[in-house]
Amino acid sequence: MLSALTLGLQMGLTTAMPMPAALVSIGQHSQFELDRYTRQIEQDGGWWLEMENRLLVVAPPTRLPDLLAGVKVEQDLGWLRPDDLALQTRACGVEEGPQLPAIADTGRFALVRTPATWLPYKSPEVSEWRPVVPNRTITKDLKARGLMAMAKGAPDPEIQLRVDAVDPDRWFAALSSLASFDRSSYGVGPNPGIDQARDWLIGEFSALGLQVTTQEFQVGSSSYHVDNVIARRTGWLYPDEWVVVGGHYDSRQQSASVPTQTPGAEDNASGCAGVLEAARVFAQFPPQRTMIFVCFAGEEQGLYGGGAYAQSLQTSGDLAKVDLAVIMDMIGYSGDSDLDVLLESSAALSPVFTPFLNMAATYTPQLRLVQDTSPCCSDHMPFINRSVPSLLTIENDWNAYGHYHRTTDLPANITRAQEMGGGILQMNIAVLADAAGFERPILRDSFE
Ligand SMILES: [Zn+2]
Repeated sequence: MLSALTLGLQMGLTTAMPMPAALVSIGQHSQFELDRYTRQIEQDGGWWLEMENRLLVVAPPTRLPDLLAGVKVEQDLGWLRPDDLALQTRACGVEEGPQLPAIADTGRFALVRTPATWLPYKSPEVSEWRPVVPNRTITKDLKARGLMAMAKGAPDPEIQLRVDAVDPDRWFAALSSLASFDRSSYGVGPNPGIDQARDWLIGEFSALGLQVTTQEFQVGSSSYHVDNVIARRTGWLYPDEWVVVGGHYDSRQQSASVPTQTPGAEDNASGCAGVLEAARVFAQFPPQRTMIFVCFAGEEQGLYGGGAYAQSLQTSGDLAKVDLAVIMDMIGYSGDSDLDVLLESSAALSPVFTPFLNMAATYTPQLRLVQDTSPCCSDHMPFINRSVPSLLTIENDWNAYGHYHRTTDLPANITRAQEMGGGILQMNIAVLADAAGFERPILRDSFE
């Protein structure tokens, strides 16, 4: 007769039992070394979670001391089962609720002890809570694991031209212009800042010779109507293959319902100005494929603008034309000594990470890339939820930005903006150039 334990072992359920746990530092260990370590944990009947430069190690009491010998233990966590833990989003809610103390921050989430009640988020496209599944990577430091060094290739002169065309000062000037408008999606009517920002964006995209349209939608169940601004450059070779570049232009205060004093310089004039900067670069270098530059509204209340846009593409049948959607949200801030960027998409769409890794390794090696397969809370979600390859670029220090959703989110408070935003933009431009295709010099010569 099988004992319950044997049965559990045979069914691979041992990880569901409580076992002692520790949070350890994995510093600069290579991917090869990490793989060897996590295999050993699993062979010993334990389980693990990878969170950037930390690993949660959970193993039977007889095995844990050996597993911890020679690694740096940061925290002893007592006995744990996966169900004792959850991932909670940080500062993502429409009206922010209590945040549980973090065992570790990882990407857009914090690892916390599971509360008695899990409160579901209002919008189905955002989930405030995620369960903990054993033996998963939540965030991976691609630089520390040696993966950026391995991905480095020879620069392509055509891509380099476009990367060099990024102008961080021009981007910061656009960011500052946008930050001069109150852009709450609840601020239309008596506080018309969001409509003024919309009109300013229409003017900027139009001046580049792009075809500009707006898409009006209702902000959830509120009485507010706001607009997405959509600018198109039709590809000269493959007009029915699309590359989307997006970022929201609405902003908010801590209380989402207060529509005034919402400069939102970092969140998200930075990303929307990044969309404009991309449009400016590709105005000089016409792409083979169609590029759509979108500034969304209604993001802060629940991704309504991104949702309305993705839904409209689904309805018109154009969604299948979208090869890639690159979203920018909070790209200008670094709170520490390195330039760390989160790349967010879902595990199911994981091939989308590869071009960002390759391009950053080659053109922007100053960035420290952190890959995050628990995406949340921005305009990549409506695309990801419709299985469109989409990736969000966001500074890894976003949660350390003290002016987040405050009246003080002003251009002057964005530390190292040109370095950080410029670096993210150069990486994204390289990815976009590769995805949208370009005229090879030989073709250019032959048509002269
Ligand atoms: Zn944002």
